[in-house]
Parts: sequence; structure tokens; C-alpha cells
Amino acid sequence: MNSRKTVIVGSGCAGLTAAIYAARANLKPLVLQGHEPGGQLSLTTLVENFPGFPEGIQGPELIENMRQQAARFGAEYLTGDLVSADLKKRPFELRVGKDTILTETLIVSSGASARWLGLPNEQALIGHGVSSCATCDGFFFSGKPITVIGGGDSAMEEALFLTRFATKVTVIHRRDQFRASKIMLDRARQHPKIEFLTNTIVEDVYDVTKKEVTGLRLRDTKLNQARDFPTSALFLGIGHIPNTKVFGDQLETDPDGYLVTRNYVFTRVPGVFACGDVQDRRYRQAITAAGTGCMAALEVEKYLEERGE
Ligand code: NAP
Repeated sequence: MNSRKTVIVGSGCAGLTAAIYAARANLKPLVLQGHEPGGQLSLTTLVENFPGFPEGIQGPELIENMRQQAARFGAEYLTGDLVSADLKKRPFELRVGKDTILTETLIVSSGASARWLGLPNEQALIGHGVSSCATCDGFFFSGKPITVIGGGDSAMEEALFLTRFATKVTVIHRRDQFRASKIMLDRARQHPKIEFLTNTIVEDVYDVTKKEVTGLRLRDTKLNQARDFPTSALFLGIGHIPNTKVFGDQLETDPDGYLVTRNYVFTRVPGVFACGDVQDRRYRQAITAAGTGCMAALEVEKYLEERGE
């Protein structure tokens, strides 16, 4: 049986930062890498707002550097999905594939996965004009027309942010009623660079052969008419899904499934700490995820110390 002082669920920016700190505290953390190893950073291209890299750094390279940095101090990695977690037992009992792992403490950094539309060519164009992060990728489309999908606050916020770069931002929404707060919607409606297409769905994105976004296939749902729509980028603002399902009701979540934490990283189960996008619906930045990852590891150290372990 594999027995640990600490296990870190998730290998994105939060989890790997927690691993660096926990490893340097001699806790030999085990990092579980699920089906999206490296988290959202591994899906982006150039990261220009992570401090310390004046020329920017590729997302996957930044993640690989963190991985190696934690490994240098003794962090270990296990690939496989966490299929169950019993937080009522002490030590906690985790199942990863056929393996059972016991651990004194747990750091949950399983992230939130961007919701995608499921278009035939969408995944192939991620990083080539299809993006779920305006802050990360908007800059690359300076002087070009950009399209944003969604009718909530995220879509409005992305659209407003993208006006800094785009010649024009088109917000496409599948209905004509919006979930966005009135203030955000009004702000977007009043912006001279933003226009809206409602009752419209996206059926596909072009052009995989050119490795860039050149346009969309749209359908007006009222008229049931399809047409092509030229654009240089497709930003999804249709929400994120926090990866918390495996914990069921053992940890407190808000109505959208994000883990509820107190004092930044404490969950309601002593010894279980949460960091990164799984508990942060507000900032969702690599640097904030790294910050809370650091906090979670420091709290693990303190928790074990207080128990003389
Ligand atoms: P949201 O409020 O759930 O809105 C998601 C939007 O995406 C909805 O308009 C939805 O359409 C659309 N959508 C979902 N799946 C779709 C699909 N498959 N195809 C087409 N459209 C789809 O999510 P959110 O905007 O990310 O906001 C989440 C929470 O964070 C909200 O409470 C929001 O207020 C908050 N937030 C606040 C701020 C802020 O205040 N600055 C910024 C961002 C987020 P339907 O309406 O038709 O379902």
C-alpha cells in the first residue's frame, strides 16, 4: 500500500507550485496527473503575464519547468484519474486506477475545465485562434476581428477586454435573453466596437488546413438559415466546469461546483486544502493559482507539524 504525507490532485500551475513547496519541505509529495496534465496552461501558447519572463514563455514550457523543479526536490508523479476519495477515513483513502493510496493530507488543485462547444474542428484549432482565455490570447489578434460566444458575464467581460485589440468584437449568443448582469450587458451594448448576433449558434470553425481561424459556420435558429461568417479568432465565454465531482458532498461547493474555501485554502475537512481554479472563479490566472498552491503547501506543512508527523 502506497502511504504518503501529502498527495496533490492535479498538475496545473497550482498543483505544481504546491509540489515545489511541499517537496522542499521534504514531504515527498505525490502529484496525481489526470486527463488534462499540466492544466489550462498546457493548452495555451505564449504566456506574457507570468512574472519573470520578459519575453514571455510558452505555456507548456512553463509547466514542464515547474514539473522538473518539483521533481528535483523529490516530488513524484502518477498518471491516472482519481476515481474515488474517502475523506472520512484517516488517513484519507484515494483510488487511482487499481492503486489505493493513503495520505495524511490532501491538496485539491484539480482545476476547472473550460466548456467547449464541441464543434468538429474546434479542438484542432485551440491555440491557433480558438481560445477560452481572453487575458491569455487576446493580444495575438490585435487589429483583427474577433468573435466571442456566450451570453453571461464571462462573455461580456471577454468582449469588453478584447475591444482593446480587435477592430470589431462580435458576441454570438444562442438565445436573445442574457444571463449577464445588466451593468455588464449595458456596457457591452454601448461599446462602439461590439456588435451582437443573437438566436445564432456556431456549427463549425474554419480553417484547419491553414492552422488559423478564418471564419465560422453560423445558423440563425429562428430562420433556420446557415451562413459563413469571417473572423480571425473564436473566444469561448460559455463557462468553466470545476473538477470536483469525485469528492461528492464531502467538500463544500457553491451552486456551480467550485470548492468553498476559508482563509484562502482551507476546506471544511481538516487536512484537506484547495487551491487554484477549482476554488477560484474570480481571478483564474496562472500567477494567482501559483499563489494559492504555495499557501496550500505551507498549510500542509503546518498541519503535519502541529500533529508531530
Ligand atoms: P454563465 O453565467 O453560466 O453563462 C454561460 C453562457 O454561455 C450562457 O449565456 C449560456 O447560454 C452560454 N452557453 C453555455 N453552454 C453553451 C453552449 N453549448 N453553446 C452556446 N452557448 C452556451 O457562465 P459565466 O458567464 O462564466 O459566469 C459564471 C458566473 O461567474 C456567473 O455567476 C457570473 O455572474 C460570474 N462572473 C462574474 C463576472 C463579473 O462580475 N465581472 C465575470 C465573469 C463571471 P444560455 O444563457 O442560453 O444558457
